[in-house]
Amino acid sequence: MVEQVLKKAVDKALHSVFGGKDFERIVMEKGVLLTLMDVSRQTYPKETIMILEGRVVRKELRISGVLFEQYDANEWSAHIELYHLPTSSAAVGTFHSHPGPSNRPSNADVHLFGKFGLVHFIARVPYREQDFACYDKAGRRLPFFVV
Ligand SMILES: [Zn+2]
Repeated sequence: MVEQVLKKAVDKALHSVFGGKDFERIVMEKGVLLTLMDVSRQTYPKETIMILEGRVVRKELRISGVLFEQYDANEWSAHIELYHLPTSSAAVGTFHSHPGPSNRPSNADVHLFGKFGLVHFIARVPYREQDFACYDKAGRRLPFFVV
């Protein structure tokens, strides 16, 4: 399950140094969004999960890449090999798809959001831009912009 994948992310990758940086605005580059849409649709009805890359510059958290996009998912789980992450990882959060009509985080999602990263995206079917939602570590919804 996605929860297990996120747990693995916590365990393996994520001595994140970004947790202390604050920001007032979240932007996702269009190319990243399109990649996430594509992979979510190709993976459906399985889930997919990825680590998002970015940085905070002048109070803006800009998501500019997918740090790792290899995955191996089945109907019940998504799995990524996080040990391939570069050590200078600019991982700022996660993305995962839900194969249903809700893009709200599960309790387990929220629990693991709290352990790593600044922002976490979830997309629901049918994975259009408006089907994406962004959350903070506590699972509170945050606005974001596509640039
Ligand atoms: Zn979830």
